[in-house]
Amino acid sequence: MTNKFKYFIGNWKMFGDIGSFKIVSKINQYAYKDKKVNKKKIVLCVPNTLIHFYNKKLKKKYISLGVQNCHSNEKYGSFTGSVSASMLKKAGAQHVIIGHSENRSEGETNQLLKKKVNSAINQKLNVIFCIGETHKDKKLGKTFSIIRNQMKETLNKQINLKKIILAYEPVWAIGSNKIPKINELNIIINFIKKTFKKNFKSKKYPKVLYGGSIGPKNIKLFASINEIDGFLVGGASQSSKKFIDIIKNYYK
Ligand code: PEP
Repeated sequence: MTNKFKYFIGNWKMFGDIGSFKIVSKINQYAYKDKKVNKKKIVLCVPNTLIHFYNKKLKKKYISLGVQNCHSNEKYGSFTGSVSASMLKKAGAQHVIIGHSENRSEGETNQLLKKKVNSAINQKLNVIFCIGETHKDKKLGKTFSIIRNQMKETLNKQINLKKIILAYEPVWAIGSNKIPKINELNIIINFIKKTFKKNFKSKKYPKVLYGGSIGPKNIKLFASINEIDGFLVGGASQSSKKFIDIIKNYYK
């Protein structure tokens, strides 16, 4: 179940402009030089306004680029202000984050997310599907039932495991400088893998990342969780130094 090379996926959120290409370029150079990293597993999910530009500007690509959401309608339609999976794919996205709690909190339901996941997979995008409980859910002891439902109500039985990465992001850990206890996180990561395998009659375990308040100083704490497949990094991925230090410190 373990994997030597971990994913390090940056979620830039609402950050960045053309000048921020220097951050992408530095991370790309780092990925080229460091033999410890698997280049296919370093991903930066940037705003839609930048994906095409960065994709063209990055002549030699040692990292992958992605975006942070897509509309549920796969191609074109009367959806003012929205961007579809096919448009993002054509602009150079290889990955898309779906179900981030910042979007769920604005009304995205499991049913809507199911359509988004299907659209993205039809367009051959790799989906980073976020799941996780709120602080209130945790206090009520609902963590396991919430994440089980988020998976069951959104993912298809015949989901292509090669195209989906699950990201466990407890809502209370995002941008809060709080992280779960390592032994509890270990149990949850294993629960997600086993629940997925059982419910989706999958032959293999899915890839599962952790995300929430990761930085260069706390990343090493997660190294004892063998089953973890990598990390989704929010705020700290907006700095090339912090993002690179996270990767370096993990392997130290
Ligand atoms: C995120 O937004 O996916 C995230 C993990 O944020 P942060 O690292 O800033 O907590």
